[in-house]
Amino acid sequence: MTLVVEERTLQLQHCMYQYSRAIYRSVKDMIDPYGDRESQLESRRAVLEACEQTMERLANDPLYFAKPDRALFQDIRRHFPITFQSDVAWAVTQGVHAATQFIEEQIEAGALDGGVARCRATTRKGKPCQRTPLPERDYCPSHQHLEARAAA
Ligand SMILES: [Zn+2]
Repeated sequence: MTLVVEERTLQLQHCMYQYSRAIYRSVKDMIDPYGDRESQLESRRAVLEACEQTMERLANDPLYFAKPDRALFQDIRRHFPITFQSDVAWAVTQGVHAATQFIEEQIEAGALDGGVARCRATTRKGKPCQRTPLPERDYCPSHQHLEARAAA
């Protein structure tokens, strides 16, 4: 892995963490208010963990994770009273949708493709170059002249 890839991965992880916190924040106050303090804390922990796991899986496997919002909701719904189920489902859908959109943008920008780095150049057809960059570089062999230009 090159430094650039590691930086991107870190950045992505940071963003996914923000998304999982946002989802957690949007539902945490709806966690079953009738349980005792301990079970409430346990529920909070479980919900937070489920949010994080969903975002992690989404980041690692964006193309093959079908219906992540439904998966997350199924994971956490038992921690919420019946009266809040539809609100929780809505919040989860919104939050996961935002994260999915972000990931899709990353893939389109060529910054992410199953963790594999892509050349940063744009082809003559205006599409991101799909080739693998040279080691420690941002560009593939056919576009390496662009790197020299960027550095100059
Ligand atoms: Zn290239």
